[in-house]
Amino acid sequence: MKLYNTLTNKKEEFVPVNPGKVGIYVCGPTVYNFIHIGNARPMVVFDTVRRYFEYKGYDVNYVSNFTDVDDKIIKEAIKEGVDSSVISERYIKECKKDMEGLNVLEATTHPKATEEIDGMIAMISQLIDKGYAYEKNGTVYYRTRKFEHYGQLSNKNLDDMQAGARIAVSDEKEDSMDFVLWKPKKEGEPSWPSPWGEGRPGWHIECSVMSKKYIGDTIDIHAGGEDLIFPHHENEIAQSEACNDEKFAKYWMHNAFLNIDGEKMSKSAGNFFTVREISEKYDLQVIRFFMLSAHYRSPLNFADTLVEASKNGLDRILTAVDRLRDLLATAPEGEMTEADQKNKEEVDALVKKFEDSMDDDFNTADAIAAIFELVKLSNVTAPEGSKAYVQYVYDTITKLCDVLGIITEKKEELLDADVEALIEERQQARKAKNFARADEIRDQLAAQGIILEDTRAGVKWRRA
Ligand code: AMP
Ligand code: ZN
Repeated sequence: MKLYNTLTNKKEEFVPVNPGKVGIYVCGPTVYNFIHIGNARPMVVFDTVRRYFEYKGYDVNYVSNFTDVDDKIIKEAIKEGVDSSVISERYIKECKKDMEGLNVLEATTHPKATEEIDGMIAMISQLIDKGYAYEKNGTVYYRTRKFEHYGQLSNKNLDDMQAGARIAVSDEKEDSMDFVLWKPKKEGEPSWPSPWGEGRPGWHIECSVMSKKYIGDTIDIHAGGEDLIFPHHENEIAQSEACNDEKFAKYWMHNAFLNIDGEKMSKSAGNFFTVREISEKYDLQVIRFFMLSAHYRSPLNFADTLVEASKNGLDRILTAVDRLRDLLATAPEGEMTEADQKNKEEVDALVKKFEDSMDDDFNTADAIAAIFELVKLSNVTAPEGSKAYVQYVYDTITKLCDVLGIITEKKEELLDADVEALIEERQQARKAKNFARADEIRDQLAAQGIILEDTRAGVKWRRA
């Protein structure tokens, strides 16, 4: 299995720290608002990486944090006149809902920064003791020049950076490239006691602390979007390696951006769609499939035409799976025939193609191409096949789809929930005397074969 390591700028064979195990740490979102679909890209990509490791038999420890103390959260809290934990808890909940819609598996651990403050204080203290950090007026800075390898991940050199920096040299800092580990409390902000006074941590320290606590001094894979390479990941390396005297991460994986009209989707640029608003237009399964249709290191442009193409592609796969399900009921019982055996060899060759693609730096685009070939083969061969063969093809396609997080089960339950939500909306519309909307919903349900009956016990529904 090969993966591209940002640290060495080449594809490398994956060799875990501990045989059979993989520790993956993915930098998670800052929870001050709904996540946008750009934020969803690393979630989907690295969830797929995790699923593939599990498919290969690895025991995966997947850790992804929530940054729940930050300027943006505090700003939002002040705007709403609530405690900043109200904002962060609300958006953690919403983010989890979006992740569920995208079929992103729960992380083994989802640590929150505010619950790891003690660990951060301990690591900062160690860095001070070792001469890698210093305190000035309640702020603790990391002494970047002391860390020999600073710049190794981003291929930057401190002197060049300093020459190009537009940042004013603060009086406090020994060097303009030093970064904050701890900052003093400002009025109205959340704060914790520390040896340097009341305050709160800088952003970078949380990931060094959480990855050490939940995975170990050396983690197998550290991942995130490519905008995190500098300074965030560079600073994490400086903190962790100075503190632990061990290599921090063996492999660094970074996804490219999700763009709109060639520009990075971001909250600050205002060119974003939240996952929530997109979910009203598309099934989030389509969005997941769309994200995997490109290699994770290639930029991906978000455009309706491309998402529509993904929708059609996904439909083709799901229709084939449905057909196989029907065939399972009608195919002749018994062993595979000679023709089935020959077809099975072709199926196995396509599984190999899928695995080879995934083994090659998680090339999901080629892996999906292999699934499409499998679908084509299935459509031609399964109607003529024995039950054993149909079952084999069905199991194979559904297993590969599962690696990509594509749900192939019938959506009866989801549909039921949708129906119920519409019925509820219709009731509300009637209460509000919005009969046009109530009728519209009845018609919409009828078009989908859902029949409503108004009874004294409430609205009952059944499928036609
Ligand atoms: P943030 O909340 O901005 O720290 O972002 C959370 C994660 O989303 C990080 O891994 C970012 O690198 C990633 N990310 C943010 N915007 C995009 C984008 N447009 N495309 C891909 N990844 C992104
Ligand atoms: Zn991080």
